[in-house]
Amino acid sequence: MKELYLKAPAKINLALHVKNLREDGFHELEMIMQSISLADRIKLKKKSGGIIIKNSQADLPTGSENLAYQAAEIFFANNPQINKGVEIYIEKNIPIAAGMAGGSTDAAAVLRGLYQLFDLEINLDFLRQNLVEIGSDVPYCLEGGTVFAAGKGEILEKLPFLGEKYLVVVTPNFRISTPKVYKLYDEIKGQQKFDFDSVLANLKKEEKVNWSLDYKNDLTQAAEQICPEIKEVKDIFKNTAAEFTLVSGSGPTVFSIYENRKQAEKVAAAWPRKNDFVTAVKTIPKY
Ligand code: ATP
Repeated sequence: MKELYLKAPAKINLALHVKNLREDGFHELEMIMQSISLADRIKLKKKSGGIIIKNSQADLPTGSENLAYQAAEIFFANNPQINKGVEIYIEKNIPIAAGMAGGSTDAAAVLRGLYQLFDLEINLDFLRQNLVEIGSDVPYCLEGGTVFAAGKGEILEKLPFLGEKYLVVVTPNFRISTPKVYKLYDEIKGQQKFDFDSVLANLKKEEKVNWSLDYKNDLTQAAEQICPEIKEVKDIFKNTAAEFTLVSGSGPTVFSIYENRKQAEKVAAAWPRKNDFVTAVKTIPKY
């Protein structure tokens, strides 16, 4: 095989609980992750001369700061019998620094793809342990779906697929630095009650999702202080038929869930804030 095309789906968080700040500076998390049909597209091509990154978006790094580059480095370091050479083209459709794991999903897709391109067997368990160093969402992004993630993101438990749900995803034109949100969270947080076990039990039972449980995001207040537009977006969603609305990750993306595709498409088509990224998408199972 000389070249390969891959999809790198985005994720949203249906719940995000910050448990505590660890001694190593990381926050211990509990999260429900869900893949959605919004995706970057990646082309891999065997080419001598090291790792070359090309992006559809000019302001993404092409060197070792690109998470896709770091993923390729890990691949070649673990497979020294292969000549280091690949060209990676990233068609960026997921907004950058938006709380949807855009960089992590590119990295995970590049890894999956390189094993295929060079016809090698992939060891997902080994990769999951090593990938958290690139980014906490990378292990999850290897397979996606509906997943409970804990620790820094390396502890993963697959849950039954949430089912096909229709969403509108809105990202204000504002990039949020994730470390900045956590820093502010540490400054302003009061100890919040978060019944994560009930959320997990609800998802494991595969019954109708009970959105009145703690499907919430501990980072919301900090994200809203940094980007007040999040509140404006939430206010617009309030006046629609949304079943549920939440900030994803560290923001500024906000999503709403609708009963059917038509409702979601109607909300997206009539979206009044012209500078926002807006799309109607659906949840997808493990890929
Ligand atoms: P998360 O939800 O995991 O916190 P995010 O969606 O908020 O992630 P990303 O889109 O992954 O954030 O981008 C965060 C930073 O990573 C940006 O500053 C960006 O320049 C850098 N980055 C490196 N590689 C990539 C990539 N392939 N795609 C997007 N961003 C990348």
